Amino acid sequence: MAKVLAIDVGGTKLVYAIVNEKGEFLNEIKRVSTPKNIEELKKIFETIISENEKEIDYIAFATAGAINLENTKVESSTPNMPDGYNSIDFSKLSTKPVYVENDANAAAWAEYKTGAAQGEANNITITLGTGVGGGFIVDGKLLRGKSGRGGEVGSMKINGRNRICTCHRKNCFESYASGSGLKITAEEIAANDNIFKSSIYKDKKPNDITTYDIVNGLKLNDEYSKKVFNIWKNDLITGLINITNIFDTGMIVISGGMGEFIDTDEIEKTINSEIVVSPVKIRLAKSGNYSGMIGAALLACERFRHN
Ligand SMILES: [Zn+2]
Repeated sequence: MAKVLAIDVGGTKLVYAIVNEKGEFLNEIKRVSTPKNIEELKKIFETIISENEKEIDYIAFATAGAINLENTKVESSTPNMPDGYNSIDFSKLSTKPVYVENDANAAAWAEYKTGAAQGEANNITITLGTGVGGGFIVDGKLLRGKSGRGGEVGSMKINGRNRICTCHRKNCFESYASGSGLKITAEEIAANDNIFKSSIYKDKKPNDITTYDIVNGLKLNDEYSKKVFNIWKNDLITGLINITNIFDTGMIVISGGMGEFIDTDEIEKTINSEIVVSPVKIRLAKSGNYSGMIGAALLACERFRHN
């Protein structure tokens, strides 16, 4: 059975382990901090690879950023990665075959092959964290698009409230449905709605209200927190209805930190009452924090096994 050195490269840390073609971990998962300097990052890649190269068949990277169609390079990097990250040719890092995939795509593949979406040939994994990411599986294949950048669901536009996104465009889905989006909604309601005056947070400045305050306020039955959360949830549902109608998908898997605050049954019911395609299932992700490594490893196996 093929063995893959799987490396998940994030803005703050880098985790790696050896994974087999069933997605099982064969050794302990190790982590190191992601350096801010590109030369140091290359050195870390070289060290990890040279330590493991003899035992493995392929190397698989899951990383932020848009990946080229050949899965050898990060074409456009994210601001949290070192300058020059897109200059690395991953295929030259080893004499073994190397595969690189976007982390949201890799996570979606892991959910499809080993997680919540097993057996669903049409499924979409949406990551709700600081931002919103997505990986789309269509008829059993990962949707990559003409340049490899497909599935950028966070940049989908919704008919919102003139919010400027971190990408400087207006009304991106991400600027509403992410954890950061919840905080912005909380600030807006605190500044403009009288409901805030009777909230448990009324003595706070609108800018100081956090995502945690809102989810905590839900537990304490705070009307302001409930109002903020409902607006956030409705923005999320708007986006999920759009993608369900377009893709006629069988399942949407929700991953990321915001997932734990969602009632998937309730959201599923609402979405299914407003779509024109067949019903969709809404589920929470199962692959956890290591879905990037698992998905990238399995995709590398698919790619290189056939060559
Ligand atoms: Zn945006």
